[in-house]
Amino acid sequence: MITQPLVLQQQPDWQQALRQMITDPTTLLQMLDLSEKDIAWQWDKQFPLRVSESFVRRMRKADPNDPLLRQVLSTPEESHSSNKYSTDPLQEARFNPVPGLLHKYPSRVLITLTSSCAIHCRYCFRRHFPYKKNNPGRQWDAIFSYLENQPDVFEVILSGGDPLMASDKTLSAFLQELAKIRHIELLRFHTRLPVVIPERITSTLLATLDNRFHTTIVYHINHARELIPQIAEGVAKIRKQGIQVLNQSVLLRDINDNVECLKNLSLALFKSGIMPYYLHMLDKVAGSEHFEISLAKAQHLQQALRESLPGYLVPKFVKELPNAFCKIPLETLTVSQFES
Ligand SMILES: *Cc1c(COP(=O)(O)O)cnc(C)c1O
Ligand code: SF4
Repeated sequence: MITQPLVLQQQPDWQQALRQMITDPTTLLQMLDLSEKDIAWQWDKQFPLRVSESFVRRMRKADPNDPLLRQVLSTPEESHSSNKYSTDPLQEARFNPVPGLLHKYPSRVLITLTSSCAIHCRYCFRRHFPYKKNNPGRQWDAIFSYLENQPDVFEVILSGGDPLMASDKTLSAFLQELAKIRHIELLRFHTRLPVVIPERITSTLLATLDNRFHTTIVYHINHARELIPQIAEGVAKIRKQGIQVLNQSVLLRDINDNVECLKNLSLALFKSGIMPYYLHMLDKVAGSEHFEISLAKAQHLQQALRESLPGYLVPKFVKELPNAFCKIPLETLTVSQFES
């Protein structure tokens, strides 16, 4: 009898980590040595718990106020939203000429390449976004024909969902088509996946990123304790290819709303090869009211941070407004815009 060599179709490590994600709050609490008495939580069927084991291992055990835990566990406070909190705070539907593409800022478009993330962040402004209805899938023709007719657009931003949830093969196919549109010179990824599952920076991904675009990858990290050595290792490989890595955070009450914490975050990012880019003021999305911070507090934090860090490590404090064609710096925001 001839025996065939056994070919094991091994999934990449990051995809295995995805399949092992924690989605049951009671499992999460057990892993952290927390009981029902320590912390109030609730099931959220629409935007359920989703977090990688690696991210959970970075949480402090037996601490119901852990800043990483608070980013992912749904609590009863989410049901207490007032009506200034909406399901589409940025009214993005108006800037959506073809499915999967947002064209709001004149020179750049944002493409939602996937509809899922490796983590569900409780403050996410896209938590109510109708991804299912607005997902290009592999039907990219409409996107490419739109871009061909927009000569002023020179940057494509891949966002999501998380664009790195797409397989390396899908990404590579997409980028090969995109590269044919000559006026697109800059390419950007907005991703949290390499933070949550550092194994995502595979050699095939690095090969895919080796292309004709000038590329930036923007990570999303809110707290210094999210950073582990594997993240820095991935960043080093990316930077070796001449790609810059930036970070955006969201200013969140009881998670990172103090000077010490923001200072540590910037320093830890820098030591990991990542430059602070934006610190976003919260979008008023239903369910996130308990993360809100006042304008006065945000202004105080910005000033204190400027005094305690080199200028290049102070992120830009900004807010996204429904009708503006760029993000607005904290300095020029009125109280009503800040609270919108
Ligand atoms: C944030 C954002 C961008 C990118 O803005 P930059 O200031 O260039 O980082 C582009 N399009 C939309 C719709 C955005 O929300
Ligand atoms: S990773 Fe980004 S898009 Fe995904 S849930 Fe978190 S904030 Fe939202």
